[in-house]
Amino acid sequence: AVRGCAMAEAAMAARAPPDEAEDECLRQYRHLFSPDLLAGQVAFITGGGSGIGFRIAEIFMRHGCRTVIASRNLERLSEASKKLVAATGQQCLPLSIDVRQPQTIVAAVDEALKEFKRIDILINGAAGNFLCPASALSFNAFKTVMDIDTIGTFNTSKVLFEKYFRDHGGVIVNITATLSYRGQALQVHAGAAKAAIDAMTRHLAVEWGPNNIRVNSLAPGPITGTEGFRRLGGKFAEDSSLFDTIPLQRPGNKTEIAHSSLYLASPLSSYVTGTTLVVDGGSWLTSANSFSALLGIASSSAK
Ligand code: NAP
Repeated sequence: AVRGCAMAEAAMAARAPPDEAEDECLRQYRHLFSPDLLAGQVAFITGGGSGIGFRIAEIFMRHGCRTVIASRNLERLSEASKKLVAATGQQCLPLSIDVRQPQTIVAAVDEALKEFKRIDILINGAAGNFLCPASALSFNAFKTVMDIDTIGTFNTSKVLFEKYFRDHGGVIVNITATLSYRGQALQVHAGAAKAAIDAMTRHLAVEWGPNNIRVNSLAPGPITGTEGFRRLGGKFAEDSSLFDTIPLQRPGNKTEIAHSSLYLASPLSSYVTGTTLVVDGGSWLTSANSFSALLGIASSSAK
């Protein structure tokens, strides 16, 4: 922490941009990339009504993009859409889908294409997670996480490919995680599901490259102001000195994930495909992966 204070004024390059804790738009925003970076484009964002997906939608819209935000809870999506439109002046279409049910994705993509006539970007952000030891994980709980994260990502990518990307090109960003890199305790379900998505990223990048489609993964570390962070013991971790072990000495925020997504979704990364961009402050390299500390989080967050 002492080192952190001494360095605080030094490094602009690793300073966190402003963020808001809840699903609210940023009160201030300074463009780092050109404000018209995504002008005229349309992004289809699963999980876009909350957390990281919400901020990705906002940052894309602040760069000229129109968005479709899609997940199960239409009421929350509609609220989110109103905030996003008010903050950015861009269009945002909220649509109800369950990524486990391909026909709901087909209907949403049809509606999006009817409204906007094009879709340039797919962000696969929908996911479910919780801390649980493998021994206490029900067969069904493991399967549910695989269904939403892995199969949901495949379902959505395939529908977008068939409905639009095959003939027009496109870019896919899969939001994954670093959990499997060190076999994170209490995370066999999410770690396995996200590792499978990273594999899918490479397979689809190879198969769909000739169609002018780029496919990449973005693997966030611990990100403040998200459901994931709260469920995975964010408060507990923030109160303790857990973040001291992260090379950049802090958790990330949603704006930082949105900025990295913006890079991957935009022509800035025109020759980047089949890779995983890790956005975690160097966290996975030094993760303590402490079983007992995580069990403490699991039992306190279950209360
Ligand atoms: P979040 O707000 O809970 O985001 C998950 C989203 O997925 C929600 O908007 C949810 O909306 C949607 N969703 C869940 N099941 C769905 C289904 N069956 N069909 C369609 N949509 C579904 O949590 P978050 O923390 O921001 O996570 C966003 C992404 O980042 C996830 O992929 C997560 O794994 C990843 N990530 C997060 C962190 C972190 O620190 N927060 C770290 C690493 C990776 P509905 O309830 O409306 O369906």
